[in-house]
Amino acid sequence: MSKLFANYNRLPVSFVSGSGCYLEDKEGKTYLDFLSGIAVTNLGHSHPKLVAALQEQVSKLLHVSNLYEIPEQEKAAELLVKHCGEPVGLEKAFFCNSGAEANECLIKIARKYAHQNGLPPTITVTHNGFHGRTLATVSATGTPKYHEGFAPMMPGFEFVEFNNLEEALKALEKSCAVLVEPVQGEGGVIPADPAFLKGLEKACKEQKKLFLLDEVQTGIGRTGHWLAAHHFGVSPDAVSLAKGMGSGIPVGAVLATKRLASLLVPGSHGTTFGGNPLATRAVATVLEVIEQEGLLKNVKAMGEKLRRELAGLDGVAEVRGLGLMWAIVTERPAGEVAQEAFQTGLLVNAVRPTAIRLVPPLIVTESQISEAIEKLKPILAAKSPDEGRARAAI
Ligand code: PLP
Repeated sequence: MSKLFANYNRLPVSFVSGSGCYLEDKEGKTYLDFLSGIAVTNLGHSHPKLVAALQEQVSKLLHVSNLYEIPEQEKAAELLVKHCGEPVGLEKAFFCNSGAEANECLIKIARKYAHQNGLPPTITVTHNGFHGRTLATVSATGTPKYHEGFAPMMPGFEFVEFNNLEEALKALEKSCAVLVEPVQGEGGVIPADPAFLKGLEKACKEQKKLFLLDEVQTGIGRTGHWLAAHHFGVSPDAVSLAKGMGSGIPVGAVLATKRLASLLVPGSHGTTFGGNPLATRAVATVLEVIEQEGLLKNVKAMGEKLRRELAGLDGVAEVRGLGLMWAIVTERPAGEVAQEAFQTGLLVNAVRPTAIRLVPPLIVTESQISEAIEKLKPILAAKSPDEGRARAAI
């Protein structure tokens, strides 16, 4: 009997190693990884440059705390600001350990900003959005199921329908900020309407309110741009990042304008582990590899191939997403599709009852996309689990 909490539904497999887009389990079976540990392993598994950098860092220095200068943190911040921040006016970085923590920081910045400017300390957020599982971020998350049993939720969030600009503008009147995902990830990979984001950006600038983007899933190249904000042509006041930024090393960050960053004066916010030498060495290496290997170009090209080929499959009602972040709406229950894909050695997940999410590593190749499509084709076209299993076995 496992000694672990039973808060996860785990598949009966344990992976022992990974290389590129493939994982190997303890029986020696290989799996094509189109889930990337939930949009995390941007460089695939065991990328030689990340392995070498981390091995060197582990043998040199792991942790010292933010009571001291950390050169690896400075370098990671410089690269993050250069690639992700500067194009949209974000000049300062704060490091933490996860997406939820990055959003906690955004929420605290928004509240401070509200109190200093006589605004209501309320943040407009969206139904079906996802911002994390800590008490504040789950309160900002628009899926009632995640609130069940945890009442009372934290006050200070006003929910509006995603992509409903009119409703969001009304809520913004009673708020100091809006926090939104450019593509709702856990909500089923639903891209924002450009007019929704642009309308919110404009209203925030006019009313001197904060336009905050949760780029935990969309950031660091996932959409074919360093940030999804670059794709949509919007300039947020701050963004949260995590997931792909460490390609497997847990790390989160907030990028903000100088003015917003200055709200967090010494002693007002912090974390023991955030931005330690190991985590930020990983961040700098991931950003360097994305640039050196031209991975943004690869994301755009492979993303388009994946979209086109998925759209041509029988049993697919809709394909939606951006870059290498896709969902297919399936005619069969998505849980069955994901389970059968797993049996054939393809990792995807059922992000909604009829939606399968595909988020392969940014290094994915044409032949790996073809391999995934060949595995999915019979499963999606089948009408029942039996037929799916039989077809997949052919
Ligand atoms: N924000 C978004 C958009 C996410 O997709 C997630 C995780 O799926 C989070 C926040 C929470 O990140 P973490 O699980 O690292 O706390």
